Amino acid sequence: ARYSKEDILRLVKELDVKFIRLQFTDILGTLKNVAITSEQLEKALDNKCMFDGSSIEGFVRIEESDMYLAPDPNSFAVFPWRPQPGRVARLICDVLNPDGTPFSGDPRYVLKRALKKAADMGYDKFNVGPECEFFLFLTDSEGKPTIKTHDNAGYFDLGPVDLGEDARRNICLALEEMGFEIEASHHEVAPGQHEIDFKYQDALTTADNVMTFKMVVKTMAQRNGLHATFMPKPIFGINGSGMHTNVSLYKDGKNAFYDENDPLKLSQEAYWFIGGIIKHIKAITAITNPLVNSYKRLVPDYEAPVYIAWSARNRSPLIRIPAAKGEATRLELRSPDPSCNPYLAFAVILAAGLDGIKNKIQPPPPTDKNIFRMSREERMKEGIDSLPASLEEAINEMEKSELVRETLGEHILTKYIEAKRKEWEDYRTKITPWEIEHYLTKY
Ligand code: ADP
Ligand code: MG
Ligand code: MG
Ligand code: MG
Ligand code: MG
Repeated sequence: ARYSKEDILRLVKELDVKFIRLQFTDILGTLKNVAITSEQLEKALDNKCMFDGSSIEGFVRIEESDMYLAPDPNSFAVFPWRPQPGRVARLICDVLNPDGTPFSGDPRYVLKRALKKAADMGYDKFNVGPECEFFLFLTDSEGKPTIKTHDNAGYFDLGPVDLGEDARRNICLALEEMGFEIEASHHEVAPGQHEIDFKYQDALTTADNVMTFKMVVKTMAQRNGLHATFMPKPIFGINGSGMHTNVSLYKDGKNAFYDENDPLKLSQEAYWFIGGIIKHIKAITAITNPLVNSYKRLVPDYEAPVYIAWSARNRSPLIRIPAAKGEATRLELRSPDPSCNPYLAFAVILAAGLDGIKNKIQPPPPTDKNIFRMSREERMKEGIDSLPASLEEAINEMEKSELVRETLGEHILTKYIEAKRKEWEDYRTKITPWEIEHYLTKY
């Protein structure tokens, strides 16, 4: 552990922190806050901070609504953009039942439980490095977000053409002040689209980091007069935003996915992990791609995966093996998007991969052809299946999965499916501009 309780109390004094936000994430991936003053901090650090869980999406029934927050001292960070006297800091918390046991509706607990299973199999670390993409849009005269961008730049373009460059620079500076190690930050393929990559860490730290990352990006964008969105596909006809998820398992401090004697430098475990993901990908897609809109990204021609295949050669398939070897040996899962709940997403990805290892699931041969150029018949002949095409299809796949049920637990699975079915029904019954355009005059 980086910090003890005493360290936190001392830091809060030294840094003149006045307010502390106790943060946690709900089932649908929304960051929640309970603000306390520094006077209440000691009590909070003893896990004595109570809140009303019934006010939070998918948490508890009214009659059992008292929940406790247990701050993780290692997550202590000061918000660099808040004023100097009376600064604001945050602590990320676990959610506990009144009797002190972990609350089964807490996504952070779901990930911890999945990590414990990995540790029981000898994998002491599950490393995750996400590549979060997002759009920066202009706001209108009333400060409301639009879907207009301000630039004409493309991938890796430099130059003063772009208001977003300034915003992205300020985002990176704020993240670094909060302890992030930024590896890369660049303009993406689509106008107004950006990517910022931070260094991989163990899955729990990375999931916390993804939540912080989204908060910082949104806050700093707003301070630069722009609106940041992690909506997967805000505009038809250009690339959507993904969250490629790079993963590796470590055993005894060594990367267990690396084998120097293999042609692709992958270990047997890495192949089985791929086999497990390919087997379970349809069942976990409702978690990695949770919105109606997520499925408008997973279509041909915009660099997002559609077919269930893997490759070390090209960038189009679901799973790619990046060229970097040794410590950097990893699998890149390319379907997740940044609207997902990172705790639940990393938990189901890990569970799928571990199932592959446990049951020695051999993956299909790699597909080194461009799958998007293959005909439907060719794909069928090679046994290449597709990802779910809609949120509805994804929920149906998830509902059938024993692996997902076991990983998420009954409480979260039930609440999640309930919320997502409602979301789908609401969308399904709406009349869209597309229908008006195509049918109103023709029929
Ligand atoms: P791409 O080539 O797909 O654009 P990036 O360079 O943008 O990839 O991002 C690579 C991500 O992979 C970074 O977040 C990096 O920290 C992470 N990464 C590197 N090594 C590992 C590893 N062994 N395990 C998990 N993630 C890793
Ligand atoms: Mg990248
Ligand atoms: Mg890169
Ligand atoms: Mg990218
Ligand atoms: Mg990538």
